[in-house]
Amino acid sequence: MLILQAFFDIIKCLINFKISEQLELLKGMKTVNSVADIWEGVLSVLRENLTSVAITTWFSDCSAVNISGNRFILHTPSEFKKRIIESRFTDLIKSALKDIFASDFEVVLLCGDEYERYMEQKKKEEGQQQEQDEYTFENFVVGSSNKFAHAAALAVANGVNKKDYNPLFIYGESGLGKTHLLHAIRHEIKKQHPDYNIVYVKGDDFTNELISAIQTGRNMAFREKYRNADLFLMDDVQFIAGKESTQEEFFHTFNTLYEANRQIVFTSDRQPNEILRLTDRLKTRFESGLLADVQPPDYETRMAIIKNKAIQLGLNLDEDVVNYIAENLTANVRQLEGAVNKIKAYHDLMSEDIDVSSVSKIMKDMFKEKSSFITPDIIIEETAKYFSISPEDIKGPSRAKPFVVARQISMYLLRTLTNFSLSEIGEFFSRDHSTVINSLKQIEKNIKANPDFYRIIKDITSNINSRN
Ligand code: ADP
Ligand code: MG
Repeated sequence: MLILQAFFDIIKCLINFKISEQLELLKGMKTVNSVADIWEGVLSVLRENLTSVAITTWFSDCSAVNISGNRFILHTPSEFKKRIIESRFTDLIKSALKDIFASDFEVVLLCGDEYERYMEQKKKEEGQQQEQDEYTFENFVVGSSNKFAHAAALAVANGVNKKDYNPLFIYGESGLGKTHLLHAIRHEIKKQHPDYNIVYVKGDDFTNELISAIQTGRNMAFREKYRNADLFLMDDVQFIAGKESTQEEFFHTFNTLYEANRQIVFTSDRQPNEILRLTDRLKTRFESGLLADVQPPDYETRMAIIKNKAIQLGLNLDEDVVNYIAENLTANVRQLEGAVNKIKAYHDLMSEDIDVSSVSKIMKDMFKEKSSFITPDIIIEETAKYFSISPEDIKGPSRAKPFVVARQISMYLLRTLTNFSLSEIGEFFSRDHSTVINSLKQIEKNIKANPDFYRIIKDITSNINSRN
């Protein structure tokens, strides 16, 4: 209890820090298991205010799950207890939290499926975090296909010629190392300037966050978060295209940062002028700094990447196996890594030798799985997002023209990007298979007649592909 008290005293001393900084500190304190200990602190306040029967009844099997942003997340096993805690005790919990952090918290109770889903998402994010920790310059294999982008990223990380390289815009197809370079810049600048406020955000998260900030009246907090960055990194910026309001807000964010001489780095799967529905003024801004592309790796680079990855995994691969992979997987680095990971798993599980014939079998299986990441939901979601409508509009019965076009495009993309049959496609949209045939014909006709229409299809396809 003494340790706990000391811990809370430290926290109180830090009330002038922002919450996120406090939490960073909490995480760094090895002796304190932060979330559980905060919950213990809250419970001691509850114990002072409630009877022991109430505590046992409502909180004996309630546990703290996470503290993230200004949300304190709890788990309780029953729907009934959840409702009671929400209606009777959240105010008390909030006030205990305010006492600890000198800041307002939202208390979120999870139970059943929502708890499972939350934990799954959290695990995924932690996995991503671990991956991103490894995205450093040291782990990046440089070859002719990426040396320009690498040099530009390195120059930015070292603060060279800020004026000329701002913004840095790295573009290229999926799986070629753009996100890796972005994090490498982040790591390096963090090392050199530990006090910098570094903001990393994905284009679609920025959009979603902005929409929710507008809905909940938190525009100012949103602005403060993004406009006070010393270094601003936006991954997959193509996802901010489309929505006028997002682009408008983003334009001002960009200008504020740019005028304050803050370094900005973007990645995208396309060049600025190929991002349809991006306003001209943003295109111009994006093109005003340095554009650097990444290309699919050449043979030598593929060999080096495979060897590098194998060493990282403690896997010893013969030259002919490395050569076989490098000759057969040519499109991108993600594929190469996937192959080496698979081989490693196979090696660990089967304790068999790795030779060209086993590798060829492993790779065949990989190709079978390859297209499975594109699901009907992803296609419908991306099409809906593109036209700023909802997936329900696409799946629903409405015959309004924009919905019909979006629906037909979704059907067309399902047909071209997946192996579903016409009747299966019909089922996703609760339509029969002749409707699907007519939709496909209509889209093919439009594509032939109108190059702009074709560009829209290509644009949505790129958005879908960059989701893997
Ligand atoms: P993108 O953002 O371009 O889609 P990523 O940066 O996510 O691609 O790269 C996909 C995977 O390939 C990541 O695990 C990344 O570490 C790895 N990778 C890409 N390029 C390289 C490289 N040149 N050297 C080492 N690993 C790389
Ligand atoms: Mg990426």
